[in-house]
Amino acid sequence: MRLRKGDKVRVLSGKDVGKTGEIITVLPKDNKVIVEGVNVVRKHQRPTKAMQNGGILDKLMPIQASNVAAVCPNCGVTRIGYKVDGSGVKSRVCRKCGGDL
Ligand SMILES: [Zn+2]
Repeated sequence: MRLRKGDKVRVLSGKDVGKTGEIITVLPKDNKVIVEGVNVVRKHQRPTKAMQNGGILDKLMPIQASNVAAVCPNCGVTRIGYKVDGSGVKSRVCRKCGGDL
């Protein structure tokens, strides 16, 4: 997976299509990501010792990594490419403008 924590992504399908947010967690094994403000599920929490009255929790659920696209600060939705510099350091670049991501 080319996405990383902290990447800005746009949702391409599902109920949050068109939303943009930052990746909070990457789940490489499941090929899923958790994105800020995306796929929020309201959970009704029963009272527990920690939360005496229970309540409603907003929980972020993972979404398929293939359903989000990286967003470049210069050109918007893009694809991530790699480039290797002279000393062998790999960095991620925008495939449209070549800028670092
Ligand atoms: Zn770009």
